[in-house]
Amino acid sequence: MKNQCFLHKTKPEIIYSENLDLFNFGNLKLSYGLCKDCGHIFQTESANKSQMKNHYKKLLMYLDNLSKPSNDKIKNVSRHISMIKQEFKNFPEKVLEVSSMNSYTLKQYKNNGSKIIFALEPNSRVSKLLRKDKIKVFNMEIEKFKSNKKFDLIILTHVLEHLFDPLSALKKCNNVQKEGQKILVEVPLFEKVENYTIGSMHLEHLHYFSENNLIQLITLAGYEIDNISKIFKSTEFPFITIVATKRKGLKCSNTNNYNQNLVSLKRYIKNSKLNWKKIKNKINKIPSNKNIYLYGAGSFTSQLIFHTGLNQKRISGILDGSKIKQNKYIGNYKILSPDIKNIKKNSVIVISSATCQESIYNDIKYYKNFGHQIIMLFQTKSIIYKI
Ligand SMILES: [Zn+2]
Repeated sequence: MKNQCFLHKTKPEIIYSENLDLFNFGNLKLSYGLCKDCGHIFQTESANKSQMKNHYKKLLMYLDNLSKPSNDKIKNVSRHISMIKQEFKNFPEKVLEVSSMNSYTLKQYKNNGSKIIFALEPNSRVSKLLRKDKIKVFNMEIEKFKSNKKFDLIILTHVLEHLFDPLSALKKCNNVQKEGQKILVEVPLFEKVENYTIGSMHLEHLHYFSENNLIQLITLAGYEIDNISKIFKSTEFPFITIVATKRKGLKCSNTNNYNQNLVSLKRYIKNSKLNWKKIKNKINKIPSNKNIYLYGAGSFTSQLIFHTGLNQKRISGILDGSKIKQNKYIGNYKILSPDIKNIKKNSVIVISSATCQESIYNDIKYYKNFGHQIIMLFQTKSIIYKI
């Protein structure tokens, strides 16, 4: 599906494309570019709306640890609550979280003094789990959201970059707030792109916000900026967090961040290509008599195959612990359970994940006892583990 900037609806400048074989989607072309009128970076060619909807539905069906927050989540929520305490005279009583993966965030708000906590969650299974945890749920999509209630605070963390039209979503929030009520928005920040790992531009993220483009979006939705915080290193990748207040009659000057954003995008692509090249060299060193398995059936694997020409080599299969993925395909490759009996003798297992390579390594290091070699692709701990 070809996209236009959600503000300007003009033909974007396309900078970069990938042609991927993806789990759930099949073959898909993804392109990235920017709006000539405001510089906003986005997926100029993406999966279509129904494919994305289907993808999230399937993904959430098999998430088993919905109620367990990660260490990063605990840290981030505590950081957000500090910002809220800073910006509110009295801690917000009525709070709504958009797309709650679990009840952790809202419970923390309750512990800090919120009286009524609501979640807006399109997935019915997640909604049920949240209701069990005594959270009131609007089981609907943000695009269709309506309510007579008015919320002191609406939280949208890592939501807007997934939506086809983030402006209309924020306007829906505006409709359920009175003047003076606030939003907290957090998205990945597309600045200092050297802090991103390769594969960070991927099908789920339709938008790549710069500070100015995000400010423009929030202002156009009718909110005045109160507090901006940018984090470059201590989070998984750079984040920007904004607290803003609903105001009437705001003026919004036109932003054009084209030149600066183009530099960031080109730098990301350049770094990315250099790193894929390093990975390709590592893979080319695998002797041709070895069977190759890729461990991980995420979108990183699709990118890995595309960028390294691995499809020219003989891949014996893709391994993944998730049952929903097993016995299905990425391109021509079957996804197998990582059971040791599924792996042919004399194999090399390439850990195909940018974010979980250490934890995957710990899960599968026993493969070495069976004569297999395990390869980690990333520099941080770039030891090639030998048998
Ligand atoms: Zn634009």
